[in-house]
Amino acid sequence: MELRTVMLMLAVGSFLLGLLLIVLKYKRTNPQEVPFWIPAKMLQATGSLLLYYRTSTFDALTILANIILLLGCAYEAWTIRTLTGQSVQRRLHTLTSAGIILACWATVFLFPPYRVGFVLLLQSVLYFLPSLFLFGTDRKSSLSLLLAVGYGVSGLVFLASAIMCFSLPLQALNLWGSVMFGIIPGVSYCIFLLSGFILLMLAKERSDLQVLAMQESLKTAETRFQQIVETAIEGILIFDEHYRVTFANENMAAMLGYTANEMLGRAYASFFPESHMDVYRYQESLRKRGEGSVYESCLLRKDGQLRWFLISAKPIFDERGNFEGSFGMFTDINDRKEMELLLEESNRRLTELSNMDSLTGIANRRRFDAALEHEYSRLRRSNSKLSVILLDIDHFKDYNDCYGHVMGDECLRQIASVLASSINRAVDLAARYGGEEFACILPDTDLQGAVQVAERIRQGIRELGIEHKKSPVSEFVTASFGVITVQYSSAISSDEVVAMADKLLYQAKSAGRNRIEYGVGD
Ligand code: GH3
Ligand code: MG
Ligand code: MG
Repeated sequence: MELRTVMLMLAVGSFLLGLLLIVLKYKRTNPQEVPFWIPAKMLQATGSLLLYYRTSTFDALTILANIILLLGCAYEAWTIRTLTGQSVQRRLHTLTSAGIILACWATVFLFPPYRVGFVLLLQSVLYFLPSLFLFGTDRKSSLSLLLAVGYGVSGLVFLASAIMCFSLPLQALNLWGSVMFGIIPGVSYCIFLLSGFILLMLAKERSDLQVLAMQESLKTAETRFQQIVETAIEGILIFDEHYRVTFANENMAAMLGYTANEMLGRAYASFFPESHMDVYRYQESLRKRGEGSVYESCLLRKDGQLRWFLISAKPIFDERGNFEGSFGMFTDINDRKEMELLLEESNRRLTELSNMDSLTGIANRRRFDAALEHEYSRLRRSNSKLSVILLDIDHFKDYNDCYGHVMGDECLRQIASVLASSINRAVDLAARYGGEEFACILPDTDLQGAVQVAERIRQGIRELGIEHKKSPVSEFVTASFGVITVQYSSAISSDEVVAMADKLLYQAKSAGRNRIEYGVGD
């Protein structure tokens, strides 16, 4: 075969193989890339093409062609080194490339036979290199051994040719040279075909091995995840985009009284009692907006019992950002929560008790003062009216003296219940002001309305018909009333409002008792 034809075939072949490698690199489904291979093939294609035009003469273009071709061969050697699982450091391949460039330029200073010999020597080294890499690897397959032998034989042919160029006299070289130059194109073409085919197979094998290794590490990660999940003290649930359980660890299932398998496919909402469905809906909307959260909720066990959980949840999105479900960690806080609720309840009772008069069960003086303060300051904004009724049982000392303290207490209780039933609105307040004095706060009530309420109480006490033999006012227990209606004034405090009512009450006492005195504060 003529050298020029071989060079052209090598150029076209290398170029096509390079194109194929580019296609494989960008293949969407299963991209495959072996470092150095594409530049190696493109360099070999360019170098061969240049030599196709310059096989007979020697000039700068020939040197350039030799450089490019040899660089291509060097990069093919690095390709093989990476395929055999060894690393190629940047320093190694850049220094080698620089050496090749310098060596090729140095051929200018050599006699023509030595010049050719030197290039052939370099070429033989670059064929021995991949052969060494292939023999040196631990993973020797029959294909890689065949390739190693192929490169070795090529290296030997080029080495023999180089030795001939250096050692034979010119006449003998001419004779042997024509023999060698008959063999070299054939060998070059064979090694091109052989290496192209086998390297493709090795690259495929390598990418299969990589996939296998990835599958292996995925499996290891999955096992590790499984172990973490199963040893976690917390319950773990994973949901799909429809909020159905796709995973439950044993702990979670046990906390809710199910087996892990029974949990699968169940709607998360089915674990929420009706009273906590608003929590479920709110949390679901948060997750779909991409927000994680930590919240407390009651969940229903299989046996219908409720248990409190502290839940830490995070949404899961696929690689395109679509909502794919969520992940939740559940801590049983039932004991703590029950204690908290008990504490809350006893605190509430305590507050209630501290605001309640223990004898009569209606509000006490403390509650009265706070409510009056609050309602009076509210007047500042509303510009409406507030009425206060103060009442005092007539001749109650005499009652106690006559009937005893036990009966006196009972009388106070009955009068308190008259007060409580005489006020109708939730904002009104009836309180025991102290001793045998009672008071009512009537927000948004004018004087006429307040007097009506006072009259209702007076009548109610009368209707109780509690005998009072010692009273000079009536044969039954009676009371005197002071009723005041005020609007907000910065000059008057809430204490002064009570003082005004007290003044009116005193007037009622003075005027003969069992009556109502009223007025408007200014
Ligand atoms: P007046 O008509 O002027 O109000 O005469 P009064 O006797 O009702 O007034 P005074 O302030 O002199 O006496 C109030 C009495 O109320 C004194 C006390 O014996 C009685 N009292 C105060 N608190 C209680 C209580 O909690 N239980 C009983 N049983 N009596 C009480
Ligand atoms: Mg009194
Ligand atoms: Mg009294």
